[in-house]
Amino acid sequence: MVHPQNEDYWGNVNPIGPRGVYDEAKRFQEAITMAYHTYHKLETRIVRIFNTYGPRMRLNDGRALPAFVGQALRGEDITVFGDGSQTRSFCYVDDLIEGIYRLLMSDYVYPVNIGNPVEITIKQFAEEIIKLTGTNQKIVYKPLPQDDPKQRKPDITRAKEILNWEPKVERAEGLKRTYEYFKTLTPDELYKNAHGRFS
Ligand code: UDP
Repeated sequence: MVHPQNEDYWGNVNPIGPRGVYDEAKRFQEAITMAYHTYHKLETRIVRIFNTYGPRMRLNDGRALPAFVGQALRGEDITVFGDGSQTRSFCYVDDLIEGIYRLLMSDYVYPVNIGNPVEITIKQFAEEIIKLTGTNQKIVYKPLPQDDPKQRKPDITRAKEILNWEPKVERAEGLKRTYEYFKTLTPDELYKNAHGRFS
């Protein structure tokens, strides 16, 4: 593994693991996009999107942020997988969209990382959400899913150089805006399909 991850990384993934289809699909998209570009001369772009969050995430899609906020709002324990020492780097959606738009408007055909390089452990992230929601929920530890990456952080040097882009929204602000959205959900929405893919 390469950390932080730059665009030269080819992706060392387990093809037959539980995430195999997902991982290989991402690699195949890049392969076919580049083939269309070189063979058919199509104008193409390849964006490598890292963890992203913001308003209108689906509450039950299994990702950490909606899972934690949903649990906090329902008065449940916060489920951290493993010991919570794994890291992620979360990008606010408006920053991501701006980066994708700039890439689209450029003429750069190779992969470009778009993500926020500020890294945080999942345990810290859970604690931030407990604080943000003011709910005092307890953290409970559950088994770590197989092939869960230990660290993830984009190297965004290329995006800075080529697109003059970098994230602007700090996590505290992004989380506040996201929480404002989750607070508008009705009890029905909050409890319907409350449990995500890992429950
Ligand atoms: N995670 C967790 N509790 C949850 C959901 C996710 O501890 O209820 C962990 C998950 O194991 C991973 C991290 O949070 O280490 C980020 O997971 P997410 O699904 O949001 O993103 P991805 O795994 O695609 O980076």
